[in-house]
Amino acid sequence: MEFKTVTLPNNKSIALVAHDNKKQDLVAWCSKHRETLKSHTLYATGTTGTVIANATQLPINKLISGPLGGDQQVGSLITEGKVDFLIFFWDPFEPMPHDPDVKALLRIAAVWNIPVACNQISADFMVASPLFNNEVDRSIPDYEAYMAKRAQ
Ligand code: PGA
Repeated sequence: MEFKTVTLPNNKSIALVAHDNKKQDLVAWCSKHRETLKSHTLYATGTTGTVIANATQLPINKLISGPLGGDQQVGSLITEGKVDFLIFFWDPFEPMPHDPDVKALLRIAAVWNIPVACNQISADFMVASPLFNNEVDRSIPDYEAYMAKRAQ
């Protein structure tokens, strides 16, 4: 695989997802960091987005609910370069009908080398980083080079 460097902008496109038992944790995290989050573009799966928007009044681009395909929608936005940061408080104690989608989303986040926080302490570390509000280089698969090689 060949890679190229792109720049994560100051204003990140952040996807927020939380399983039901973790939604209040994510609401608390968003409330705590509301002022910082205001300068970023926010996406969320359906229920997570509704709960956060009601609690914080942050503007959120709401996707489909997770069990109906929202996690896959986030993955799709990552491949298109429209989401470049993932905060996903998944529940380690509850099996979900859409666990394959969760695994697929985490894989796609690894493929496209985007920052991922799966719990509150990781998300706190990330928001405290000077990189959170600044540009930073990110290495991603070079799709044009990949296709040129495959088409030979
Ligand atoms: P929800 O989906 O925000 O619609 O609850 C999240 C998930 O369960 O993946």
